[in-house]
Amino acid sequence: MRILIVGAGLAGLSAAWSLHRRGLRDLTVVEALDGPGQGASHANGALLHPSFPEPWNAPGIAWQLLRDLGNEDAAALVRLKQLPQLAGWGLRFLREATPARYLAHSLANMALARHGLPRMAAVREAGIDYAWRPTGSLVLLRTPEALQVARGWSGRLEAAGLRRRWLSADEAVALEPALAPQAGRFAGAIHNLEDERGDALAYCRGLATWLAGQGVALRWRTPVLGLATQGGRVTGVHTTTGERLEADAVVLAAAAHGAPLLRGLGIDLPVRPAKGYSVTFAPAAGAPAPVLPRLAVIDVDLHAAIVPVGDDRLRIAGTAEFCGFDTRIAPRRIDTLVRAAGSLYPMLGGAPAWSRTAWAGLRPMSADGVPLVGPTAREGLWLNTGHGHLGWTQAMGSGELLADLLAGRAPGLDPAPYAPGRYAGL
Ligand SMILES: Cc1cc2nc3c(=O)[nH]c(=O)nc-3n(C[C@H](O)[C@H](O)[C@H](O)COP(=O)(O)OP(=O)(O)OC[C@H]3O[C@@H](n4cnc5c(N)ncnc54)[C@H](O)[C@@H]3O)c2cc1C
Repeated sequence: MRILIVGAGLAGLSAAWSLHRRGLRDLTVVEALDGPGQGASHANGALLHPSFPEPWNAPGIAWQLLRDLGNEDAAALVRLKQLPQLAGWGLRFLREATPARYLAHSLANMALARHGLPRMAAVREAGIDYAWRPTGSLVLLRTPEALQVARGWSGRLEAAGLRRRWLSADEAVALEPALAPQAGRFAGAIHNLEDERGDALAYCRGLATWLAGQGVALRWRTPVLGLATQGGRVTGVHTTTGERLEADAVVLAAAAHGAPLLRGLGIDLPVRPAKGYSVTFAPAAGAPAPVLPRLAVIDVDLHAAIVPVGDDRLRIAGTAEFCGFDTRIAPRRIDTLVRAAGSLYPMLGGAPAWSRTAWAGLRPMSADGVPLVGPTAREGLWLNTGHGHLGWTQAMGSGELLADLLAGRAPGLDPAPYAPGRYAGL
């Protein structure tokens, strides 16, 4: 079977890896940009976090978004001129925000993440080094009330098998001594034992090199213009270079860019871009290597994750902005992140010792907060997209699920929650 994957980010490359291992080796990956991991997968939060499976449309989200409309410093900001593009998607996003749906989606996300993470061992065994550190993560909770709310909700995830420990502030500092200056400022913490960290860009590059070594065709600088069809069936893609590439199955893993691609077929792909930022701190040239924290720390009040990447970098990532496909970097958002990082780790204030790299990327947000993985009603068209804030965490789980379905094998988890067909027209 000839399989063509559109997009060489975490989703597309993981799918290619899993397909290849199923013996489906007539594979082509087509990418608009000049290498792997240049889109949303480039400098993300570096966290593989099954402990954080909740979609963004929590009950009460409508009120929160309304309250924050126009607030440039809000953790989640919707730009008014984007409202027409978000209309149908947004209604579904809000409709799914009931307590029962929220729980179901959270559990589905967690299951997909946990399906994939152990299987990433095979990537490391293949010699791909993506600075993997299975160190867990710490969630800081500032007040006894926040601790109580977190415990109430967490019971549902723990009942489904999630492993975590509840720590006092002192126990958290014992685990992560870099937090010592903050000890008096939080009421307790959660230690997520299953969380890992790793460099998503190194993973993408490593997979691309491995795939190329196996004979998989990787086509850089080849933007797909549209899908080719015959008698309603998808038979390949048209590229901007005027080529028509034929395939028996086209896997769309182009993140939110998949939506404009499918519009030509009259399909409304319910995936929209949500911009996020990261700032990576690295020791400045010639400066002594600083001692970095060991654990990824999520500060609920700061709406940010501060994560060591490998052993010599520290990354802070967060915020969400619905502003279309605009990836320009707003200095104000970067300042907010840098301030947040400095408030947790004052040593980052010693600017001359650090170089900083700012980045913005577009999370591909599905309307219900669960990715779309599997076949569509349109013969020949498959999806692996819509992973939102969980694309690194779920990359392998999704790739494995997709590959099993394409290979006609029984996947090791129920595919129904991720089936594109839960949306009309897909
Ligand atoms: C600030 C930030 C922090 C994040 N932190 C985390 C985290 O800590 N943990 C986590 O699990 N997730 C995190 N995420 C989410 C995660 O990074 C994304 O979900 C993931 O990168 C999506 O992968 P993807 O392959 O679907 O998209 P992408 O990486 O964007 O890949 C899609 C590819 O398709 C290509 N493409 C698009 N259109 C075309 C076309 N027409 N023709 C050819 N190619 C095309 C693009 O160029 C791109 O390379 C974060 C995201 C952001 C923005």
